[in-house]
Amino acid sequence: MAIYDMRCKDCGEQFSLFCSWSELKASKCPKCGSSNVRQVYSAVTVLKGAGAGSPGTSSSASRKFG
Ligand SMILES: [Zn+2]
Repeated sequence: MAIYDMRCKDCGEQFSLFCSWSELKASKCPKCGSSNVRQVYSAVTVLKGAGAGSPGTSSSASRKFG
């Protein structure tokens, strides 16, 4: 289980889901009920990944997420 930030493509509603990955694919917008939703990645996640390396090591620039 994890928290996913989602956005509805139809009405633009943004909401958070606490569910498994399989449930995420079947998720619907709580506002308009559309299944045309997609996952959005918050800035917090990006900053957390960018600052994960220690100051001494500047070798591996390409760090993959997940
Ligand atoms: Zn919607």
